[in-house]
Parts: sequence; structure tokens; C-alpha cells
Amino acid sequence: MSATIRCPYCNAGQVVGEFDNYAPFYVNCEECSRRYIVEPVRHGVVVYRDGEAPCCSDPECRATEMAGSGQE
Ligand SMILES: [Zn+2]
Repeated sequence: MSATIRCPYCNAGQVVGEFDNYAPFYVNCEECSRRYIVEPVRHGVVVYRDGEAPCCSDPECRATEMAGSGQE
């Protein structure tokens, strides 16, 4: 599966692909080199600016939660 996305900073188009589940991931814009978050959804993708995604859609926040879930 792949999709064409738009950079939330400069609106440059970019094709992302090779995702096969609904886990969000980071993309670095080829035009402005800024990082943003792409989350695959049922009918396409949702794009967030870095830091503006809800925790469940933020790869780093998810990783932090998972790392912390095994601790007391
Ligand atoms: Zn950009």
C-alpha cells in the first residue's frame, strides 16, 4: 500500500509506501527537510505536524507509553 501525501509545512507532494499496517511513522519532507507524522487510516492517510499528533498517532509517544507500560 502506498499513498501520496502533502507536507503540512510547505505543501510539497511526496509518495510514501511500503506500510502494511496502521502504525504511524515519520516522514522527512524532501523539499523543506522538516519532519512530520503520517498515520495510515482505512481510506488513506492522515498527516500531522511533528508535535501536533495525539499520543496514539505519535510514534515517539507510543514508544514511550509501551516502554513505560511494563514498569511499576
Ligand atoms: Zn515540506
